[in-house]
Amino acid sequence: MKKTALITGASRGIGSAIALRLAEDGFFTVINYNNSRESAEIIASITGGIAVKADISDDAQVKDMMDTISLRAGGVDVLVNNAGISVSGLFCDIPLQREKRLWDVNVGGTFNCTRAVLPRMINKKSGRIINISSMWGEVGASCEVHYSAAKAALIGFTKALAKEVGPSGINVNCITPGVIQTDMNKHHSKEVLDELAEDTPLERLGTPEDIAKAVSFLASSDSDFITGQILGVNGGFVI
Ligand code: NAP
Repeated sequence: MKKTALITGASRGIGSAIALRLAEDGFFTVINYNNSRESAEIIASITGGIAVKADISDDAQVKDMMDTISLRAGGVDVLVNNAGISVSGLFCDIPLQREKRLWDVNVGGTFNCTRAVLPRMINKKSGRIINISSMWGEVGASCEVHYSAAKAALIGFTKALAKEVGPSGINVNCITPGVIQTDMNKHHSKEVLDELAEDTPLERLGTPEDIAKAVSFLASSDSDFITGQILGVNGGFVI
């Protein structure tokens, strides 16, 4: 029987590339989405998986999603906490409501999904949790203070959880992408994106597939002895 991978925010961007790659690797994929139903269903039809709606910031919706997964796939063997949003602007200019939303989705959503999958993983004494943070969580970005702080929280979360659930046979790792070409960066001008590529030692921006390859490794048995680690996939932008 195929193992099941739940990828949050897999309707677009990095999450959809992860879903396509994990399906190629032989996983049954659960494509979580919030607003982009049509594209989530297209990804699910390509992967042979299922699309399940849940706003991950809402614990009740996450529980409903887990009930659906239990019925249709048994449970989650690999959780990829990918869904996220960004907020740009000077720290003091970000309204409290947007600050709260950013935290609720990026951190609260990761906590909700992890809390929902862990009991079964602990019972089975096996599982993989892969958190998608950001290089800005490691080095900080001006005008993205809230985002950087939330992504830094995921790094701390990864390290602490890896220690807590390692004895239960669960590996917890984190990927810190550099600048990846997705909708999240479409507000940047071509000039800004060209400059970011120039500042990258490998002289290009990343693709969603670059991140999917790293997730594929961390979901596979090739990474059996790796846990609590932060893997930068950023073309050398942060060294
Ligand atoms: P994206 O293209 O904007 O896609 C975001 C995805 O997250 C969408 O599938 C969206 O689903 C989902 N999502 C947002 N809020 C959600 C919620 N409350 N519940 C469930 N799903 C939700 O972003 P991306 O660039 O692929 O980013 C994916 C992850 O990589 C994020 O965590 C991001 O912070 C991180 N990252 C991105 C970059 C980059 O340069 N792009 C760099 C470093 C880290 P719907 O459309 O269905 O609502």
